[in-house]
Amino acid sequence: MKKHLIIGGGLAGCALAYRLIKKGHHVRLMDNNLNKSSFVAAGMINPIVFRRVNKSWRVDDFLPSAIHFYNELQEKTNVDFFSSIKIRRFFASEQEKKYWTQKQDNPSYVKYLANPDEGHYPYSINKHRLGSGIVKNAYRVNAMSFMSAVHRMLESMGVLIYHEFEYDKLDKKDLSYNGEFYEAVVFSCGSDHRDIPFFNEVKIEQTKGQILTIHSEQITEKETWNHKGFILPIGAELFKVGATIERGFNDIRTTDEGKTVLVNVIKGIFSGEYEIKSQIAGVRPTVYDRRPVMGEHPNHKGIFIFNGLGTKGYLMAPLLSEEMADFIISGKELHQEVKLSRFYKKS
Ligand SMILES: Cc1cc2nc3c(=O)[nH]c(=O)nc-3n(C[C@H](O)[C@H](O)[C@H](O)COP(=O)(O)OP(=O)(O)OC[C@H]3O[C@@H](n4cnc5c(N)ncnc54)[C@H](O)[C@@H]3O)c2cc1C
Repeated sequence: MKKHLIIGGGLAGCALAYRLIKKGHHVRLMDNNLNKSSFVAAGMINPIVFRRVNKSWRVDDFLPSAIHFYNELQEKTNVDFFSSIKIRRFFASEQEKKYWTQKQDNPSYVKYLANPDEGHYPYSINKHRLGSGIVKNAYRVNAMSFMSAVHRMLESMGVLIYHEFEYDKLDKKDLSYNGEFYEAVVFSCGSDHRDIPFFNEVKIEQTKGQILTIHSEQITEKETWNHKGFILPIGAELFKVGATIERGFNDIRTTDEGKTVLVNVIKGIFSGEYEIKSQIAGVRPTVYDRRPVMGEHPNHKGIFIFNGLGTKGYLMAPLLSEEMADFIISGKELHQEVKLSRFYKKS
């Protein structure tokens, strides 16, 4: 059986490699080890989009698949990286609180929303006069542990190699690279997508994000707080605070401006003591319509793309990688909204 070649060993490429291998296919996964997103992500899986209090796109499909996927990989790698979390959302407006109250009894929201409270919290935080609501069925993947464990697993299986893919070495007609022939070549290069010469029409934007890690003895470790950003407990009285959303940036390093934004996130929720331990930055691959991009190149048979996971990659990747694998293997129809064809003008 011929192999599939995947370029990019971030969340998208690793999840797709795993799905294809599980379906009995051979895979070569190539990564240049310059990851900008999957390793630094907060890894939160939040089923709700705040302000208008809507369910996240396809969350009822994505969530069961994600829970199964991360639990299965925890077992296979023998590393703990997946846990459920409780998110407390401090309402930003009366309107948001109204939406929440209207939707919490709606049968399709009941498993995600708990009653708003009036602001009586058993710990020290700023007074939030509008109160808060709890999001149920939320999860966190410890991204660094997960990605490291999956890389180790795929490397030990002889699937993952650390290598910069060179586009001029790919023969697009017979799908060969460095003398090896492939059935499919899939590009999952995240925010480095613009370097790919075959998919110029596909506009994947770079959206930078920065995160602080803080230490505090005064913040509860039982809840993740959300208000203009999040404070997420990660154990040992440490918390991640994030994340900035920056477009049009000059470089991908951490900045003082990013730190100020995140300190203001903390101030908006909590006025106790804390110490900043570290700051990191990454770049998300985002698309203007907030939908991933999946499909086969219209002019080059066998060349595929799986990218654009945006801000919710950890929720979407498990099911989308399954759907992408089925599309590559048997041409099974992809979901209308992710189709690559939306970038190509009809003639
Ligand atoms: C600060 C921050 C916080 C985030 N928080 C969350 C969160 O809480 N929840 C959530 O769901 N999502 C979150 N995300 C988003 C999530 O990280 C992304 O959706 C996801 O990681 C994208 O994965 P990817 O594989 O498409 O891209 P990447 O992780 O960028 O992977 C692409 C890979 O391709 C490799 N590559 C590129 N070009 C080449 C080449 N020529 N040759 C070889 N290899 C190449 C790169 O080195 C990289 O390893 C966050 C992102 C950031 C930056």
